Amino acid sequence: LHDELAALIGSDAVSTDEADLLSHGKDWTPRVLLAERSGAVLPRPHCVVRPASTEQVSAVLRWADEKKVVIVPFGGGSSVSDGIGAPDAVVLDTGALSKIHDIDAKSRLVRVGSGVMGPHLAEALAKEGFTVGHEPQSFAISSVGGWVATRACGQLSARYGGIEDIVLGLEAVLPGGDIVRSKTVPRRAVGPDVAALMIGSEGTLGVVTEATLKISPPPEERTDVCIRFEHMVDGVAFCREIAQSHLHPTVVRLYDKEDAFLFLRSHPDEEPGPLAILSFDGPGAGERARSTTGIGGVEGDPRLVAHWWAHRNDAVGEFKKTIAGEGLLGPHGIVDTMEVSGTWTALRGLYHSMKEKLSAEADLVGCHLSHIYPQGACLYFTLASATPDDATAAERLDAWWETGMETCLEAGGSISHHHGIGRLKSKWLPRELGGWYSVLQAVKRTVDPHGIMNPGALGL
Ligand SMILES: Cc1cc2nc3c(=O)[nH]c(=O)nc-3n(C[C@H](O)[C@H](O)[C@H](O)COP(=O)(O)OP(=O)(O)OC[C@H]3O[C@@H](n4cnc5c(N)ncnc54)[C@H](O)[C@@H]3O)c2cc1C
Repeated sequence: LHDELAALIGSDAVSTDEADLLSHGKDWTPRVLLAERSGAVLPRPHCVVRPASTEQVSAVLRWADEKKVVIVPFGGGSSVSDGIGAPDAVVLDTGALSKIHDIDAKSRLVRVGSGVMGPHLAEALAKEGFTVGHEPQSFAISSVGGWVATRACGQLSARYGGIEDIVLGLEAVLPGGDIVRSKTVPRRAVGPDVAALMIGSEGTLGVVTEATLKISPPPEERTDVCIRFEHMVDGVAFCREIAQSHLHPTVVRLYDKEDAFLFLRSHPDEEPGPLAILSFDGPGAGERARSTTGIGGVEGDPRLVAHWWAHRNDAVGEFKKTIAGEGLLGPHGIVDTMEVSGTWTALRGLYHSMKEKLSAEADLVGCHLSHIYPQGACLYFTLASATPDDATAAERLDAWWETGMETCLEAGGSISHHHGIGRLKSKWLPRELGGWYSVLQAVKRTVDPHGIMNPGALGL
């Protein structure tokens, strides 16, 4: 395989280096990293390829389709849903598709290669006075193509939306090598949005090679608000009022008592009870922020919001440390997160049932509500346990997912708000999608008849 690929895209772009094979056979999924910590041998790819142009991606996919070789697209490798690990695959690392092709300041668009990582994009846009506003916690370790493929959602989604609201057009290569491109127009009514099939496709339908994203000037002023509540239910009612108002916050997060305990670790003087942090920016930010008083709760310390902004991505390092057995939970500690969503009508039942059932199986279950919409919100659960050994940790993880996903479906929630499905949640996807799952299967059969693209992800 190596020689044939080298003939197609050059030997420098094909690697069988041991470290490359190790780092490209896994992602950041806790069960995968736990298996590695326990000494299990993870699936290793045949090789890693780094095509540097759409045409090279096309050549690789044409070849793979003919030879029936499995291809796994790889951006930053930060999936937490077991999106990467297919055995005997050629891993297609998009890292060399890293050009910022065009910034159209007049139409407020940027066209970028799918391998561009968060900080590179932010830096290039900042120079021209723009931002995309898509800021997942994993910003530094994830790519534009990964955001599109996982249907990601950033921390500032209340203002900027999820990646599906930010993407205006895509270029992709399909199995067999065909290159498909969307026209760049603000909206059109030309049949179903077929290109949007790539958003959330998790590498199963082809390789996203370029994305055209909406940009805007970053807001100048920001006003923070912190509100404390006696009960979570009051906080949820407050968030709903905000979501259905015309106050347009950029950030809204409501922590329950246990999650506030995690959030306030470095503020031992602060009561961990339910608390909401909000940020408003842009014109009239101060006035809009002040309008939140009187809706509910009592004012807390807005410096806690500044603390969140300064430390909002620290969990990336803490997560790695815990999984490596070097954190507070000890050598066999385990942590995982579940991000589900539901309407305001379903949210109370969803919160209480997941909290109750998961709390029976983990030492700590924290939850925050974030990513608000007029119709509902995301509930983000963090589960942590110190266990006596890695085998128990693995059993615990399996039990968490079994309980969490079953309870979520029973309560009418969606099993993933933004981390995607991967292999981790594929068992529950047919129930999540109902009759639409067979439509997805039909699309897969048509677009990828030989099943070469990331088999197993989305259960396909
Ligand atoms: C600590 C931490 C915090 C996180 N916080 C957030 C968050 O706030 N919001 C959020 O949405 N997610 C979050 N995630 C999850 C993850 O970062 C996102 O899913 C991210 O979008 C993945 O991007 P990536 O480039 O790392 O993709 P990868 O992990 O490389 O790939 C993910 C999936 O997409 C496919 N894929 C990748 N690139 C392409 C491409 N060009 N074409 C086709 N398929 C492709 C892969 O095959 C795989 O199935 C977090 C993860 C971690 C570890």
